[in-house]
Amino acid sequence: MKTSSGARRVGLYLRISDDREGAGLGVKRQEDDCRLLAASLGWHVTEIYDDNDMSASNRRKKRKGYHRMLADMQNGRIDAVIAWHPDRLYRQPRELEDLMDLLDSPDLDVELRTVRAGTIDLSTPDGRMMARIQVAVAKREVEHRAARIKSKIKELVQAGKIHNSGHRPFGYERIFEGEGPRRKILGEVLNEIEAAYIRDWAQRALEGESLYSLVTDANTRGIKTSTGGAWSYQGMRALLSSGRIAGLKEHKRQVVGKAVWPSIIDEEDHQALRALLSDRAEQAKANGAQRTSTALKYPLSGLVRCTCTEDGIRMRTAPSSNRKGPVYRCPPKGDGGCGGRTIRIEDLERLMEKLVFAKLEEVEPLDVADPDDPRPALEAKVAKWERRVKELKEELLDGDRPAREVREAIDTLNSRIVQAQREVAQYSVKDRVLDIDAEELRIAWEDYFPARKQGVYRSLIRKIRIHPATPPKNIFNPDRVEVIWR
Ligand SMILES: [Zn+2]
Repeated sequence: MKTSSGARRVGLYLRISDDREGAGLGVKRQEDDCRLLAASLGWHVTEIYDDNDMSASNRRKKRKGYHRMLADMQNGRIDAVIAWHPDRLYRQPRELEDLMDLLDSPDLDVELRTVRAGTIDLSTPDGRMMARIQVAVAKREVEHRAARIKSKIKELVQAGKIHNSGHRPFGYERIFEGEGPRRKILGEVLNEIEAAYIRDWAQRALEGESLYSLVTDANTRGIKTSTGGAWSYQGMRALLSSGRIAGLKEHKRQVVGKAVWPSIIDEEDHQALRALLSDRAEQAKANGAQRTSTALKYPLSGLVRCTCTEDGIRMRTAPSSNRKGPVYRCPPKGDGGCGGRTIRIEDLERLMEKLVFAKLEEVEPLDVADPDDPRPALEAKVAKWERRVKELKEELLDGDRPAREVREAIDTLNSRIVQAQREVAQYSVKDRVLDIDAEELRIAWEDYFPARKQGVYRSLIRKIRIHPATPPKNIFNPDRVEVIWR
């Protein structure tokens, strides 16, 4: 049904192209050029097909206008198409073949024109061959461009411009090419020892251990930063809240994507740490940060979860508002909690002790004493150090020795105590449930320090779910506490 020359009803196809001729040429300019061409041919513009929704992620969505145009060709709404350049219509050999198939159908008479490449005659073998060559050449250009970008990135990485911000990051080793200050970074791999420290610290921070305690621990153990220095509060905080250790690339503290280096902790832990550490920063500011290394105070910390979220959000220790002693409190709404639920720590600890002993009496203890159990020795040391700290505090009052010297000695001892307690707790976690003798435990329990109690709890309990308070609110209701045993 060829309708000789006549006035054709033309559809303008508009699309921004980012990598070919006319790059950056706005849709308006394309439209103006196309309209001029239509006018010079005496055609009527009846429809505009615009595919500039670059936010659409999938290809089909991106070409919504194009598919509408194909439909209008088939239903006879338009019988001509003008585009600025052929590459606006088809960029892939597959797209061209589809278009040629459609135009080839006997009852279709559609003319194609472009501003920059004139008539595209897809009805003759020569025209089709030319179009195929053009697309193939263009495709090759696109592929070359992709390859160029890749090699440019590699070049930047090698030149250290992508993630070479001075020093080697803790937890990673860099692979270099060449020597000296101008050597190129080829990539990064894990430093397994440091990565293990990071995982340990991350876990402990998530379980409620303070950053100061982690810093003291790191420095006492002689763990150096990547520049060989001692750990600081800021350094520890920056490390644990960084996206880098979760394999995320950041720009100005905002995560901008997956990085090329391996991750040490998973993204979920990273999110939790970031929330926790920023929250702590706020708290510290509010309280006027106390710069002391504090040992774990409440053995259930880290296990207590509020049931307001499906997973059970970690409840944090907080001072009581009504002078009835400290509580575990659900984080505020802004941090994913309900903000309101509390449970008195003393009530919970007393109940948990009862439950744990009851649980242990249900099972027959194996009663295998481990001759290599380091805990008695560690506990003896801790007792000795604690006595010494007490003496030093008295010395401080006497003023015979320089106060600074005495304080330093106290600090050193305190960090040793924290470390020893930590080791005991870690050993206890390794304990299997059946290795704990209920009778022995009951006798020793009172003398256990919180970190060791925590070890016992952790070896037995996965989490403690706290349900909403029930009236009367001044009386503790043990039914609020649901223990998920291991
Ligand atoms: Zn809650």
